[in-house]
Amino acid sequence: SMMVAFALGALTDLWADFMRATGAAERVFELIDRKPTIPATGGERLASVQGRVEFQQVRFAYPTRPDVPVLQGIDLKLDPGEVVAIVGPSGAGKSTIAGLLARMYDPQGGRLLLDGKALDALDPEWLRQQIGTVAQEPMLFASSIEDNIRYGRMDATQEELEAAARAANAHEFISRFPEGYRTLVGERGVQLSGGQKQRIAIARAMLKNPRLLVLDEATSALDAESEHLVQEALERLMKGRTTLIIAHRLSTVIGADRVLVLEGGQVVQSGNHAALMGQEGLYRRLVERQFVAA
Ligand code: ADP
Ligand code: MG
Repeated sequence: SMMVAFALGALTDLWADFMRATGAAERVFELIDRKPTIPATGGERLASVQGRVEFQQVRFAYPTRPDVPVLQGIDLKLDPGEVVAIVGPSGAGKSTIAGLLARMYDPQGGRLLLDGKALDALDPEWLRQQIGTVAQEPMLFASSIEDNIRYGRMDATQEELEAAARAANAHEFISRFPEGYRTLVGERGVQLSGGQKQRIAIARAMLKNPRLLVLDEATSALDAESEHLVQEALERLMKGRTTLIIAHRLSTVIGADRVLVLEGGQVVQSGNHAALMGQEGLYRRLVERQFVAA
């Protein structure tokens, strides 16, 4: 009813405020700045991917700071098509988990599996083709909108590209530019809003059509319309794909099959929203603190 909708809306805003206040600025794309130690190619390419992901007792420290443990024995299992949200304070290790899945680094202990295959036996380039990423602040190339979407799959036809843009709720705003899909973005092109950039990133991921998704939710306030369009596009994108979300919105957390609460490189709680609310612990404190803030 109205009351429930209102309460959930208010709660969602508070959650976002809380995440902003705790400085939980996440950027999966930061990961590309992190110096990789992994060979670009070589290894097995699976004929098809189901999308089952497993972390077994994963321990990790960054090569530049080998004495600082970042992940301390992470166990994580995602069935094909499952949606898992990761929440936790800034610095907990959320982006690092996403980075290890894309094999930006190898762990010092434990192992990661895709469909039961050790990740380090797979061709890294091939592996990354199986993962779609939508970052909080997507980076677009200083090129046309079309090029930016096509990067998802270089051999896509114009029709496929437009279908991806429609599914991403991007076709309409793109078509309103005089140059349409040829519109240049970046310094010498049009300025796009945060929500528009995200929808282009979603279109790119749609075109790529990967089995695995890594989403880094926006903490920055999108206007209400943009927020709705982005959310709807993301839901379409997630359909049938194994999805790991670094979650800032309470609505996402409530909708996830499972939530991992990460603190200091360890999973301190896991379960769905209802189960976690029934326990004392960090999760409930995170949610309750927002009521206090109100
Ligand atoms: P979260 O995404 O939960 O905020 P991160 O996974 O980004 O946390 O970081 C976890 C820890 O690893 C933090 O202490 C952070 O300072 C550290 N860290 C992140 N990236 C690097 C890096 N490239 N080199 C060294 N330490 C890093
Ligand atoms: Mg992060």
